[in-house]
Amino acid sequence: MKERTLLLLKPDAIHRAIVGSIVSRFEQKGFKIVGMKMIKMSKELSKDHYSHLVSKPFYHDLEKFVTENPIIALVIEGKEAVEVIRLIVGPTNASKASGGTLRGDFSNSTSRNIIHASDSKEAAVKEIARFFKPSELFDYHLTNEPFLYASDE
Ligand code: UDP
Ligand code: MG
Repeated sequence: MKERTLLLLKPDAIHRAIVGSIVSRFEQKGFKIVGMKMIKMSKELSKDHYSHLVSKPFYHDLEKFVTENPIIALVIEGKEAVEVIRLIVGPTNASKASGGTLRGDFSNSTSRNIIHASDSKEAAVKEIARFFKPSELFDYHLTNEPFLYASDE
């Protein structure tokens, strides 16, 4: 089923000038970009987004990392987007991520791992609403859309 998921290109992706390489992977796979913007995350937004991690010893460094430099937020739409995008992104510890995944190909770190992706459909709905207003999301057709899926998918 068609779903939407939230991605954040973290500051390391921007500083290393690999934004285009990352975004092209999603386009190549047949996913549609329905929202995209460069923003500076506030500390409050970081605490909300990483609420499951605020008590961890590395949280301070994580918050500094994601709030002191710009990030790029994206909403991606497509078939089983939440699960498939997590597979394309790879596991948190990029050192152990397989080649072919974004983290496997572009990072060797557990913290500077270039990208965030929602980890469940419920999280995706909450995270999209956290980062985007409805008016910042767009509905349009890709020119190759008829060739991407069979009609029953
Ligand atoms: N993180 C970190 N050290 C750790 C675990 C996580 O710095 O030991 C950071 C890392 O940037 C990671 C983010 O916290 O991507 C969120 O952690 P989570 O467990 O949700 O992993 P993810 O969903 O990003 O794979
Ligand atoms: Mg996570």
